[in-house]
Parts: sequence; structure tokens; C-alpha cells
Amino acid sequence: MLQSLEGVPGYDRESFVNVHQSGAQVTSIRLNPAKPVAEDRSDAISLHKSAVAGLTSPIPWTRYGYYLPQRPSFTFDPLFHAGTYYVQEASSMFVEQALVQHCDLAAPLKVLDLCAAPGGKSTHVQSLLSPGSLLVSNEVIKARAGVLVENLTKWGGVNCVVTNNDPAHFGRLEGFFDVLVVDAPCSGSGLFRRDPEAITEWSPSNVDLCQGRQQRILADAWPALKEDGLLVYSTCSYSIEEDEAILDWLMETFGCVSLPLQTPGDGIVEIQSGRGGWGYRFFPDRVRGEGFFLAVFRKKDAVSAVRHKVKPLDLLPAKEAAPLAGWIDVEGLRFLRHGQRLLAFPDALLSDLAILQSALYIQSAGTAMGELIRDKLVPDAALALSTRLSPSVPRIDVDFATAIRFLQRADLELDAAKGWQLLAYAGIPLGWVNVLPNRVNNYFPREWRIRSEAPKP
Ligand code: SAM
Repeated sequence: MLQSLEGVPGYDRESFVNVHQSGAQVTSIRLNPAKPVAEDRSDAISLHKSAVAGLTSPIPWTRYGYYLPQRPSFTFDPLFHAGTYYVQEASSMFVEQALVQHCDLAAPLKVLDLCAAPGGKSTHVQSLLSPGSLLVSNEVIKARAGVLVENLTKWGGVNCVVTNNDPAHFGRLEGFFDVLVVDAPCSGSGLFRRDPEAITEWSPSNVDLCQGRQQRILADAWPALKEDGLLVYSTCSYSIEEDEAILDWLMETFGCVSLPLQTPGDGIVEIQSGRGGWGYRFFPDRVRGEGFFLAVFRKKDAVSAVRHKVKPLDLLPAKEAAPLAGWIDVEGLRFLRHGQRLLAFPDALLSDLAILQSALYIQSAGTAMGELIRDKLVPDAALALSTRLSPSVPRIDVDFATAIRFLQRADLELDAAKGWQLLAYAGIPLGWVNVLPNRVNNYFPREWRIRSEAPKP
């Protein structure tokens, strides 16, 4: 691989090898601006203490990302499970610059994140979009779609739809999206410092295989982008075949226009491909982050407007929705039936949801409210984590040990009023318990629970 990188702009063999051999690791998080933690509560939280110390060390290319001085146990931080931040590699947060520099983020945009699991870019993009925007996060591999739903649910936005489709299925949505993010599956050389095991899987033939797959994915999804829409293409590979060569292929095949980016901070390497396409490469010996590559294009070919045939959505009549009003801020939202469950979704995006539902396999949409049984809501975990949860829902702020037991789905003892109670930690909701006369039922989702014992202090 080292040999194959000779001639790659920005590659310096000696310092590249040194940084991989140094054993140094960079830890970074990105805060959820929709779930701020009160600073006077940070004393209670071990991770947050280090995060607050780390907050003096912002990542230059994003307004929400910070380096941490060391890697804490995220598993045993309740605020991690509550979706107040996402643990993400720093370089990949550069995606923010593509949107900030080339989109009107105040406008209502329709964004497709095509290769989205586990959800790093999707949660980031969600934080950047205006509330009237729609984010469709897709993951083709079913086993990975679950973690994408989990992470977006914890992030708490109501304007997201998670789909589990092959990129080719998006060809049915001609000209639908304003922005297409393709964080493509790649040969992964950019992550070798993190995961030295992956080095054994690298081969020139795998790079070629990845290139072919990247072209197929881009060609399949291309029709779904509007004329003048934005394509953000990224990989965590240094190989020219997956980076510069893809830029040339995109410009040749689709006649799209490459867009330059300003590069905050030092060390990001700006490249130009043979056809003049701009690209931005991150090397771990030049920036505080892992290997990454990103390029942005504007689509120029005309797209014929398609009238989509849609199946109607199963909307809940206003009268039946009345018991839901105390649970969620209903402003601009409507409720839908999905089997037994009820979902909250932005009213202004319902016609888009109907189109998506007719063309794609939807894994989740909006905020799952729960089930109405005899006019009483049995609340869903997603509602507790929603940023639209009504502040009037009473909550019990628990201590660290109780929060961890709740997240382990263990038995709890609480001195609380009977019925559904929202548990919160440092003021941030975690989930629901149902207090019965003789016990407390823990409703934290089984598949999200902490599976290990807390480390001994
Ligand atoms: N964007 C994600 C994030 O920021 O958390 C990381 C995405 S990862 C680099 C690439 C994703 O592409 C993986 O989730 C993988 O399952 C998916 N993938 C693999 N093969 C694919 C294919 N043929 N078409 C579309 N996606 C594919």
C-alpha cells in the first residue's frame, strides 16, 4: 500500500509511517445542539468533565466537534445514551463545510444520505438542516440499518426517515433530492491507525473492486438528485482510484461541476484531479484526525419532473390524536398509524413521506409515539428521546448509579408516583419506567441496553 501511495498529493512516506507506528490515538465527539447539557450539571458526570475540558479544543472545520484529552468510557456515560453527543472521527466532520459553503441551509432541503450506517454523517447533517428540511438516511445492509435507527432516534429529530434500500431503488425518485451524500464503502486505508487489523484486508485488487462499487452506487443514485443539486462524495481511502479517479469519472459521465472548498485549520491537502475536480485529503500526520477524502459537485443535467403515484398515508383523525397533545409539542406535526404504533411527522413533509413510502422500504419515520390503548398512550422509547417531547411531561432526575441500572435494563427501586415516569439524567431524558404498586417496570429497549457491568471505580 505504501508503494501505491507514492505520488498521491500530500503523501510523505516517512511521517505517514511514523504516525501509524506512534500508537497515538485521537478521540473526538460532536455535540448535539438540540440537546444542550446545563453546565452546572457537568460536575456530576465523569465523561462530561473530560468533555468540558476537551471543549477548549474545538475541531477547526465544524462548529459542533471537539477533541477530548483522553478516551473515556462512553458506554458508562448516560449522556452518551441520551444522544447529547456522538463519538465521531474528526476528519469526517469536514462534511459540514460542503453544506455550509455550498447550500442555503436556512431553506427547506431534501437530503439523502445514501450509505448512512452507523449514522455519523446523518446525525451531523441533521444538526445542520433547518427544521423544515427532510433527511432520508439509507443503509443497504439490513443488519446495519438497526444501529442507524438507534443513533438517529437518540439524536431526537422528527424530520428523519430511515430506509433500507439498494442505491438502485432511488432511481425511482427522479429529481427528488437537493443534496445527495455518498460516504462510499471503500478499501479503508484511512482507518489503519485506528484498526491495524484492517491492514491485512487491504489489496490492490480490493481497491479496484471498491472503485467499481463506488461507480455503481453513484450511477444508481444520480437520477434522484435535482438539477443544480449538490453531491457530496467521500471515502476513508487514500487511493487515487477511489478518490481522484472517481472525480474524473463523475465529471466525464455526468458533466457535473466540481466545487472548491475553503479549508479551515492547517494540514488539509487540496488536490485537483486530471479533469480539474477539487478534492480534500486528510492525512493523520498532517491533521488531528484519520485519513479521509471529500469532494463536492453541482449537478448540471436537466431532470424531468416525475409525477409520483402514491399510496395515501394512514393519518390519525384530529379527534383521536387529542390524547397525544400532552406528550409532544404538536406544533406543525401530524400523527400517522403504522400498524399498532403511532408516529409523529412534520405536516409540511407528509407529501414527501407518501412518495418515499411508495418507492422505498421504510425502517422508521419521524418520532415513534407508542400505542394508544383505550385512549391512553403507552409511550415509545423514541418519544422520551425526541427533542419535541413536551416539557410538561413530568420527569425524575436520577443519580448516576440509577441511570446506569436503567440503561442496563436492570430492576429499579424508585420512590415515585404510580404510572409512566420519564427518567432523566442531568436534566436530559433517558427513557420510560412504569411504576406499579409493587414494582417498577423498566422500558429501556432491550436491544439498546448496556450489556456489561459497570467498571469498578
Ligand atoms: N456514513 C456513515 C457514517 O458516517 O457513519 C459511514 C458509512 S460507511 C463508510 C459505508 C456504508 O456503505 C456502510 O454502512 C456499508 O454498509 C454501506 N454499503 C456497503 N456496500 C454498499 C453498496 N453496495 N451500496 C450502498 N451502500 C453500501
